[in-house]
Amino acid sequence: MDKFKKFVLFPLLTITLFFSVFFLFLQINYYPPILMYHSLGTPPVETPQVEKEIFKQQLRYLKEHGFKVILVEELAESIKKRKIERKVVAITFDDGYKNNLEAAELLKEFGFPATIFVIVNKINEEGYLGEEDLKYILANTPVNIGSHTLNHKYLPSLSLFELEKEIFLSKKILENMLGREINAFSYPLGGFNREALKIVEKAGYKCGFTTNRGKGKNIFALKRIKITNNDVGLNLWAKLSGFYHIFKRARRPY
Ligand SMILES: [Zn+2]
Repeated sequence: MDKFKKFVLFPLLTITLFFSVFFLFLQINYYPPILMYHSLGTPPVETPQVEKEIFKQQLRYLKEHGFKVILVEELAESIKKRKIERKVVAITFDDGYKNNLEAAELLKEFGFPATIFVIVNKINEEGYLGEEDLKYILANTPVNIGSHTLNHKYLPSLSLFELEKEIFLSKKILENMLGREINAFSYPLGGFNREALKIVEKAGYKCGFTTNRGKGKNIFALKRIKITNNDVGLNLWAKLSGFYHIFKRARRPY
């Protein structure tokens, strides 16, 4: 009996305990992947880009592997309610480059929603989406628009007055321009501080997005995963796993 305990029962219990704790750790740390893109193909300024063909390949991967793509607002709501489903993904684009029009058309082909965070004072500038483009996207594709501030300034270095302006006014201008509520906000360069978080909430946004600088599951500072041209196959699998952040050290928010 002692031998049985020593060589069978105790090792078995130890292994079971180890795996239970490990799976519990994974359950608690699951973070739904929110993908972050910038430019599709050659950008007008120096910014991260993903080639159109690779983007298509990534969308195909999502489709073939049964991922459910939802809007960031819906995802944030599920995080808030702690009802996070597996294999649910959100897609975002920052800055509002003109070539995002092509991305919106591709997303439409796949039936995937996404959000483009536009810099309000860049709208209609060369290389950026114009007012008509935004209206076209909203009317004809499943893609939504969010705010990426007025001027794309690093928020932690702004005065309170400027912060309010960047966060409040960008929302109001977009709402007047597009005739719909703007509910999602993205921090330029992912930078935020306590004041910025408060103002985003006060302005009436329903969710805010950073880079990998997020603040746990705070829906006003949700982490995103940067997607590059290298993210195919195993890389993409890892980034979509929901555990990618565990192995990546988060940068400080400011
Ligand atoms: Zn940006």
